Amino acid sequence: MKKHPNTQAVRIQTPRTSEKEHSTPLFLTSSFQFDSAEEMAATFAGELDNNIYTRFENPNVQEFIDKMCALEGTEAGFATASGMSAIFGCFMTFLSAGDHLLSCRSVFGSTHTIITKYFHRWNIDYSYADLDDTDSWESLIKPNTKMIFIETPTNPGLDIIDLEWLGKLAKKYKVILVVDNCFATPILQKPAAYGADLILHSATKWIDGQGRVLGGVVVGKKELIDELFAFCKNTGPSISPFNAWLLSKSLETLDVRIQRHCDNAEELVKALDGHPKLNSIKYPFHPSHPMYETAKKQMKRGGALVTFDLKGGLKSGKKFLNALQMLTLTSNLGDTRSIASHPASTTHAKLTDEEKTGVGITPGLIRISVGLENIEDIKADILQALEKS
Ligand code: PLP
Repeated sequence: MKKHPNTQAVRIQTPRTSEKEHSTPLFLTSSFQFDSAEEMAATFAGELDNNIYTRFENPNVQEFIDKMCALEGTEAGFATASGMSAIFGCFMTFLSAGDHLLSCRSVFGSTHTIITKYFHRWNIDYSYADLDDTDSWESLIKPNTKMIFIETPTNPGLDIIDLEWLGKLAKKYKVILVVDNCFATPILQKPAAYGADLILHSATKWIDGQGRVLGGVVVGKKELIDELFAFCKNTGPSISPFNAWLLSKSLETLDVRIQRHCDNAEELVKALDGHPKLNSIKYPFHPSHPMYETAKKQMKRGGALVTFDLKGGLKSGKKFLNALQMLTLTSNLGDTRSIASHPASTTHAKLTDEEKTGVGITPGLIRISVGLENIEDIKADILQALEKS
């Protein structure tokens, strides 16, 4: 009987050992042993499907991957040490000198750095496409375009890209569509259903959800994952079994955590709507979001991130952060603890004003990663800090 993906995220488990444990044990071993020279030779020849070495595979890692595949509705996957190694692994496996990447302009800061500061070293070309000008995307595809890379919702602008439209475009031009699904998680959005070839995550965020470990994962079509595996098993971005064990346990509660994150985010949006200190608020499921209809079409709920623009700009942004009493100022998101950040004075401070506008960062933009504290306490802290901003 085929089980619901959320049940599979709870129930998929490495085969029980002779100890008959209920919860998966931790396989902290660098390598695996063979009973004979023949078995070892056959395993190395690919004739037997045994574990060899933890840089290639490990039971804890496989369990985490299998759960992610069940949740995303994909055939295969590979888990990495961080979200960035998942992204870098995808770029390096599929892009060669002379190839071209089309990416949405608004991407996570380190992804932007790889594309703009390092691609030229390997003679890889790129174009950034603007989210508010989808007509231009087709004209930016060149004969050597090999991959389209996007985030939706984007970090930190919370822009939404229509996955159905993009899936068709990628198919028409036979390019690999890669979606960073970190902000939605597979609970809220399944890009494979729209034709995405590879879906990746910073598992550091909601997949762990408790701010403990770094991790990443890429899932998708088997033929592409086989290529990624061949590249990564030799170049070494593999995840540690401990982190995979922990992330696999975290997936058992992903659905319930995300539902409560969304409940809290929706309540916060209601409390902030029309607040006199704000120019605007942004949330994918708020009717004022420019891509509200698309968000409703492809996401189950609006997610756990809320942004707002303070009327007082940069100065107010800093005052707001300093006035917070409970929310944490930290360089992470997707935690049980609510987190506030002010991109213009921190993560995106080095961008020119034009670049900031291009990715939706205004001087007064505040990003809240809404956590799992009681919503009354989250609201109270944000509202009192707004009074002082
Ligand atoms: N992608 C997105 C959308 C992110 O927000 C982040 C980190 O914040 C990353 C990728 C990178 O992930 P990691 O920090 O796990 O390397």
